[in-house]
Amino acid sequence: MKHWLLFVKMFLKKDITNRGEPMLIESVLNRCHKINGFVYGNVGWEKSKEGNILEVEVRPRKNTKGICSKCRRPSATYDTAKNPRRFEFIPLWGYAVVLLYRMRRVSCKDCGIRVEYIPWADGKHQLCRIYQQFLANWARRLSWSETANIFKTSWQSVRRSVEWMVHWGLGRRDVKDVTAIGVDEVQYQRGHKYLTVIYQLDEGCRRLLWVGKDRTVRTMLRFFRMFGEEWSQGIRFVCSDMWKPYLKVIRKKIKDAVHILDRYHIVANLNKAIDEVRAEETRRLEQEGYEPMLKHTRWCFLKRNKNLTAKQGIKLKDVLKYDLKSVRAYLLKEAFQVFWEYTSPYWAGQYLNQWITRAMRSRLNPVKKMAKQIRRHRELILNWFKAKKKFSSGIVEGFNTRIKLSIRKSCGFRSFDVIELALYHTLGALPEPQVTHRFW
Ligand SMILES: [Zn+2]
Repeated sequence: MKHWLLFVKMFLKKDITNRGEPMLIESVLNRCHKINGFVYGNVGWEKSKEGNILEVEVRPRKNTKGICSKCRRPSATYDTAKNPRRFEFIPLWGYAVVLLYRMRRVSCKDCGIRVEYIPWADGKHQLCRIYQQFLANWARRLSWSETANIFKTSWQSVRRSVEWMVHWGLGRRDVKDVTAIGVDEVQYQRGHKYLTVIYQLDEGCRRLLWVGKDRTVRTMLRFFRMFGEEWSQGIRFVCSDMWKPYLKVIRKKIKDAVHILDRYHIVANLNKAIDEVRAEETRRLEQEGYEPMLKHTRWCFLKRNKNLTAKQGIKLKDVLKYDLKSVRAYLLKEAFQVFWEYTSPYWAGQYLNQWITRAMRSRLNPVKKMAKQIRRHRELILNWFKAKKKFSSGIVEGFNTRIKLSIRKSCGFRSFDVIELALYHTLGALPEPQVTHRFW
């Protein structure tokens, strides 16, 4: 009976693993995280306050020389540290994993006595590079504090990991072929704290190129200074909103590019004007004791017609019967939608003139103000048709939404530095270090 059981056990073992010997952690590590010139040694348990830690020894491969950290050439060993340094590795089965390594110093012919270069971590970091990349990748999907909680590390470690990845990527990204850019402003804190974001809008490569503090002339100048004059001459199209400092610098720095006022911002501003008219009128009607017929009409007026719910549709139809300021404003907004349908810049321009005249006669102050603004920027708005509608409002709008989401995700730490990192990290489409195995 006993023999029979033994036989079954052996058979099962063979069947499951397909090989006769158990796999060691060392072999797993060699498969997914091989380090050239080094080997994995003993693996042991270490008890700590936070729980068990898997400690893995790393040793130099026999007969290999250490590499000088300055010139990256192999050199003779000068000495070896007594105590091992600890490098945090990706946790395994819920246990923290630490690589232990006794650093060598090498005596380099050119650089003198230097600490050796190790390929799995940066000199100043306690986290292995692969672990930093792992954390940074999760920090794109989760908030930074969630990432820290789940992988039992600190928020600072997550921040440093993202920082390392962003710097790595920014140093290696290719910005040669940028021909279209979009400029946008985003509020990141209450009290007029804005940042300027610049995107690449070329088809096939849309990404965040740059983040700058404030939304001033100096902010924009900083961008152009950083990318250089030669690079700026390659820009053919630039989209922006009507914010004066942007318009000014763009006119000066890239005067040959077609400057387009993007549709998203124009529509947003017009909606704001309509909403002002409606809010003001609602208040007035209430004060004068009229029936509150404008109650709950906000979205009826602001939404595109096809997006209205059935109830909102009925409400709108009902309200449109009255001679109200809000109704006139609404009809002007609807008329402006038609403008975008034109293909010929000439006819679009004719239509725009008509619309401006109508709006100026509307006796609705917010709408008149908007019409004046549109008249002032008529040429830039019509450039959208000259660019053959290539840069639809959806691109800038999409980026705008994603930026706001990213800012919300790094919540609690709304300093510019953190937000800058988070935005490059999630929207920069930056290159990443190649790995033999993706742990995430
Ligand atoms: Zn050297």
